[in-house]
Amino acid sequence: MRCLGIESTAHTFGAAVMEDEAGGKAAASGTRNTGGVSASHEPQGGSESTDAERSVRDEEVLSSEKDMYEPDEGGIHPREAAEHHYAKSLDVYSNALRQAGIEVEELDCIAFSQGPGMPPSLDVGAVVARSLALKHNLPIYGVNHILGHIEIGRLMTDTEDPVVLYVSGGNSQVVSYAGGRYRVFGETLDIAAGNALDKLARTLGIPHPGGPEIERLAKEGEELLELSYVVKGMDFSFSGLLTEAQRMYEKGDVRKEDLCLSFQEHMYAMLVEATERAMAHLDRDEVLLTGGVAANGRLREMLETMAGERGGEAFLVPSEYATDNAAMIAWQGINRARNEEPDRISGTEIMSEWRPEEVKVTWR
Ligand code: AMP
Ligand code: MG
Repeated sequence: MRCLGIESTAHTFGAAVMEDEAGGKAAASGTRNTGGVSASHEPQGGSESTDAERSVRDEEVLSSEKDMYEPDEGGIHPREAAEHHYAKSLDVYSNALRQAGIEVEELDCIAFSQGPGMPPSLDVGAVVARSLALKHNLPIYGVNHILGHIEIGRLMTDTEDPVVLYVSGGNSQVVSYAGGRYRVFGETLDIAAGNALDKLARTLGIPHPGGPEIERLAKEGEELLELSYVVKGMDFSFSGLLTEAQRMYEKGDVRKEDLCLSFQEHMYAMLVEATERAMAHLDRDEVLLTGGVAANGRLREMLETMAGERGGEAFLVPSEYATDNAAMIAWQGINRARNEEPDRISGTEIMSEWRPEEVKVTWR
């Protein structure tokens, strides 16, 4: 089965083609309910992966193209992001087919991010996907963006049944599979981790997205400042931490580097504590880190330490699949298409607040 995925929940417009082990159109008739593709994979744990292991995956991702909206100043402006997506959509789509070396007629289905996300951005992907589906008579699948992050992480790292720490610009959740659905066991009580990093970055005069530069500055930090630390059960909160850090900086009595170091240490310790609690309660020894903030070296290190101390293992999504990308949407489309009937066009309205536990899992 060969699926075109379209991603447009926030800052990125992406298009990607993925193919499962059964191959494309010619083989498609026999591919329903055939189970996961992971049987053909060698195990791949941790952040290091060998070339041989990677090439197995690379065959499945026939292409993954994207173009990211970068605001001139400040954070993401929803209308400007949507304009960016409209302007880039045709090029990104055409490049994805060209890179995959296929024509649109050789696709078996099309999948798009139906939510959650920013409505103006989501609309662009939905319109592009519906238009292509109608014009080329392709089955269409609206997929949950969060499940896309989780399932591409499971595919790329071969973890079976992990506790997932999903940390991105718009969401921060501790998720795990239980009773036929991905349940949210803990989450941010206010803003997402990536959003907090980006807002602190703005105060520090760092352009969007701020995560990578905060990480760089933190490496030069020397003094660990005391900041607020809020974990309630498996939930956590970042707005107090953010306000406190912003005030400290504006008062002018701290070094940027020390503030970045302290901010990261507090934020990531909260995330790791909540995740560890979920692992203990759920009796799981594997943890999967995914989402844009998963690119952070310090968070990766802290999660690996925690998992190691419990006798477990941390699985880290490869960085090219950590931030928003369309391969994860194409892959989630394949998961649905192998087990479900396509959506009706009338059932493809965007769902900007769509939660992962609302989706009945049919593919595992
Ligand atoms: P996503 O929404 O999944 O595409 O993730 C985007 C978020 O990831 C933004 O808030 C970025 O600041 C954040 N991010 C990207 N790279 C890093 C990094 N190295 N460390 C921390 N956060 C990062
Ligand atoms: Mg995302």
